[in-house]
Parts: sequence; structure tokens; C-alpha cells
Amino acid sequence: MHYKNFKTVTYCVAGWVNHITEKDLREQTEWLQKYVGIDKIYLETYRDEFAKQEQLDMFKRVMKDYGIEVSGGITTVTPDLNDSDKKRQRLFNTFCYCNEPMRARLKEVSEYTARNFDEFIIDDFFFTQCQCEDCVRQKGERFWEEFRLAKMMEVSRDLIIGPAKKVNPKVHIIIKYPNWRESFAQTGYNPGQQREIFDSIYTGTETRHGAQTDQHLPRYLSYSLMRYFESVAPGRNGGGWFDNFDCDRIDTYLEQAYLTAFAKPKELMMFCWPSIVNNKRSTPLGFMYQKLDAIVGQLGNPQGLKVYIPFNSQGEDHIEDFLGMAGVPMEPVCDFPKFEEAGSGEGVGSVAACRKVMVTAASLKDPEVLEKVEAFAAAGGNVIATAGFIIGALQKYPDQLGKLTSVSYSNRTLSADEFQCAGAGPMGKNYIKTAEAITYRLLEHRNNATWSVMNAGHGEYHESVLCYDTYGKGRLTILNLPEMPSRIYDLPPQALTQIRRELEVSGIWIDGAAGVSLFTYDNKTFGLYCHTWDGCAPQEFFVHVKGEANQLKRLNDGSPAMPWSSFPMEKIYSRPLDPRNPASEKESVFYVRIQPGDFCFFQIQ
Ligand SMILES: [Zn+2]
Repeated sequence: MHYKNFKTVTYCVAGWVNHITEKDLREQTEWLQKYVGIDKIYLETYRDEFAKQEQLDMFKRVMKDYGIEVSGGITTVTPDLNDSDKKRQRLFNTFCYCNEPMRARLKEVSEYTARNFDEFIIDDFFFTQCQCEDCVRQKGERFWEEFRLAKMMEVSRDLIIGPAKKVNPKVHIIIKYPNWRESFAQTGYNPGQQREIFDSIYTGTETRHGAQTDQHLPRYLSYSLMRYFESVAPGRNGGGWFDNFDCDRIDTYLEQAYLTAFAKPKELMMFCWPSIVNNKRSTPLGFMYQKLDAIVGQLGNPQGLKVYIPFNSQGEDHIEDFLGMAGVPMEPVCDFPKFEEAGSGEGVGSVAACRKVMVTAASLKDPEVLEKVEAFAAAGGNVIATAGFIIGALQKYPDQLGKLTSVSYSNRTLSADEFQCAGAGPMGKNYIKTAEAITYRLLEHRNNATWSVMNAGHGEYHESVLCYDTYGKGRLTILNLPEMPSRIYDLPPQALTQIRRELEVSGIWIDGAAGVSLFTYDNKTFGLYCHTWDGCAPQEFFVHVKGEANQLKRLNDGSPAMPWSSFPMEKIYSRPLDPRNPASEKESVFYVRIQPGDFCFFQIQ
């Protein structure tokens, strides 16, 4: 292995495998080992065509010379196999699983792969959207979601896992999940059940350019989706997978590697060999992997605000990623967390991490979510509900929600260009103007029944965008975010800071503008990354640490010691967290300046 804390891997697509000569392969391997350092490849046996046996053998022989491990790979796309396939309604050549020749082909592919390898991965075309007449007939009266979830379980078991294990009983089969989690159920991706039958899983972390691509994924997904899949199959999330497509500048590409690495993966997959060789975007990888390796080895377990995203759910898509881009450490989970009085780990916030949970419109997929919310709050937890959750719950479970809060919704909007934010003094309330009005769905609360932490509005009309109700030993906090999630980035830093303070579970928050992500771990370490999005600039802000801390020690990334980057950062000041109560817990405040494309990690001392 080139690095101590992760394997670096790439993927070889079948069409290319079939055509490369041994001489070219050796030259390209030299290039990759010089600039990147590759530990392992996934050698594809099928993608519209079979990779020829003699080419697979040649690859295995050459890779052995370089000490590179070889596993297999399958991409479940195929050309029409006969005339009747012209009637199929397939996207990207994905299979129609309702006809015998295609099913037989997949079985054959699986057997061929298992004969060649003791491990293989399935690329993320392992879904179906075919609505041909055969699929419509088989679906019958069911909804597409129900039909496809069941269909892809059957296909996984009967056409991939079963045949492969028959040929090679020790074969380890990995399913890679795409970066479009919100659409899994509709296309048959079924991690809730597939995690039981696959040996391990893998995570798509290809965020690319957040604005100039068809997916529009906030970059923070490269971190948060890794963490989500760690909750899906603890210890069996094999790695994170990114590529350089639509990455206009080098940093756009590298960021995917950084954020995947901050989630502490087993493997970093750079898709794919022919696209990374001789590509300027890959040339800094080896250099940066050394730094990441040095840092990651010093970090504890990632920690963030748990966001409940049940299986087969959708709603307020990527809200956790937009918050992550604004500096809130997030930890999406597939199961509603248990409230715990005490947490584990030595971090400042290990207790808080077990005492807060966020619910969004997606959480409403769980028919028991309101009971869980109520029990969590009653026991002493803080449940943070988004506007999407509240509005959905008011429609689906008005009586249950009414037990918890006075907040109501009547289809009105709030247009806000003034935000009431905490000031420095004990009674301080500043009204911060934004250049443009930001639109919200208007949630109304009964004053003094529900308490507003932050109001927003225009002129003489304001409403709460952050409020809470106490319940039992705990509370329900309602966070209203801009109707257009990307407008979160336009909120004034003071408003963002109010949100960060409310959502923190690590005892750490920052007070700058959006565009810097905060990564927190359970051993008093944390990191900052300044994103290189369009219009980015260096950022200056303060890091707030709960309690008495004196210094932030920089985690060494292997760079030679330099006065400006090696000295510990001294505390600027400390003060009571509640300015009205001088005896309240203290916060310690540190100054940070960070350049776009840079990450820095610290230990609190
Ligand atoms: Zn079909």
C-alpha cells in the first residue's frame, strides 16, 4: 500500500481493456505510479461487451509486476441482444430484467467474473427504469417503486450473487451505490435489503462542478454520502468513488478526494484508468494523498448532526449538504438514533451528538417518525425539524404535531431581507440587511407558546425562521431555510452562525460566510475546508470552541515546519456563552484565515 490509512484504486473499463497493448499498459502504469500511486485496480469484465480472457490475463500479469492488486468489475449495461429488444425502453443501455435473453446474459457475466476474481464490484448502472410492455405486464397493479425494489432484489440474488457464488464460493461481491440517493427507490436501488445479501457496499462521491452539471450536487455530498452509507452497513462501506468528468479546474476534482478522505474511507476510487492517465487533474493526487494520509491517521471518528434519512425516502433533497457547505458538520443516518444521556468518545460534543437529531421531509417516509420525535424530545433530546418536515407533518399527522408545537402553515410565503441576529452585548439584537430578499415558506408561531431564536422579514413584518418548543425534558426546534436551498449561501454570516450554534454537536462552530465546511471528530480534532466554487475568495472568521481551550495545535500533514503554518494558534479571547449570565459556560475563540482549495486540521488543547 502506498498510504497507511486508505488504498488508492482505479477502475478499468471493458472496452478499453480489450484494446490496450501490453506496452501501452506498462507505460501508463509507470505514469500512474509516478503521479498517483495505485494500490489496486478493478478490472471490468463486462460493459456492453465482454472483456476478452486473454486481455484479463495480460492485465493480471502486468499488474503483478507492479505489485498492484486486481479485483473484478461489472457494469450492467448491454446492447440489444436480439430484434425483440428494439421495443425495450432503456436508459444508458441498462438491462430490462423482464426478458429471458437479458437475464441469461447477466448470469453469464456474473459467472465469468467470479471465475476470474475473488472479489468484484458492480458499477452504479445496476438499476432499471424500463417501462417496456413486458415490464408493464410484470408490474401488474403494483407501483413502480414496489415492483422495482422487489425486482432488483431478485436480480441481485438470482442473477448475480447466486450464480457467482456457485462458480466461486469465496467471491466477495460489492455493490456501488450512486450519488443520487433520493431516486433509489424509484429505480430499484434497495440498500435497506441489499445490504443483507451483498458482502459490502461502495459509495458514489462524484460531485464534480456543483452548478455546471446536470446533477447540481453540493460538494459536501462527497463527505456526507460516505457517512450515510457507513450507517447503512457499518464497517462494510468499501470506499468512495469519484471521477474527473465535468471538473473544470483541478481543485474541483481534488475536492472530491479530500471530502471522501475526511469521511475515513477504506479505499479511494478514481474512476477510471483511461480518464485519469495523462490528465493534469490527476497529477497532484499523489502529493495530496500523502498529506491526507498524515491527517486522517490523527482523526477520531467523524461526528456531526445526525439527519434521519430512512430507506426509500425522498424530500428536501441534499438539505444536509447545503448545510454542510455552510459549515455545519452533518452525519446522515438511515435509522432514527437513540437518545443517550452520555455519549462515547472524548470529544467536547460526544454527549451532544446523541442528544440532537434533525428530521426533514424525507424523514416522513417513516410512518412512526412522529412517535420517535416525541420520545426523543421527551427524554431530553433536541429534535431539529426543517420547514419541510413541519409542513408535511401538519398535513399527515396534524394532531401528533400539535402536541409538540404551536407552529402552523397556510401556504403563504415570507420574503426576508432583514435578519434579527444576536449582538455582542447581553441584550443585543442586530437587524442585518441582505442585498436581495430571500423567500421562505411562512411558518407562523404563537408568540410565547413557541419561542423565536431568530426572526426574518421586511420592514414591520417579521416571522421566526428559528424557534423552539420545550417538551418533556427536551425540545423541538424548528429551522426554516430558504425555499431555494442554494440561497442558504446568501444568508448573512450572523444568521448562519445562529444556525450553526443551534445545530452544533461537537462544541465547535465557525462564524464566517458559507463556503467553508467544518469536519469534527470525537478526539478533539477538527478540520476546515474552503471550497473552490465560482466566485470564491479567501475567508477570515473565528472558530468558537465550547469550554476553556487555550490553543489550536495544527495537525501535521507532513509538510516541513514553517513559522506561519506550524505554530499553534493562541486563543483570542474567551467569554460566557450566555452574555446575560457571566457564570454560564465559556466559549474560547480563535482566529482563522483560509484560502480556497486549502484544508487545515487542528487539535484543541
Ligand atoms: Zn422492460
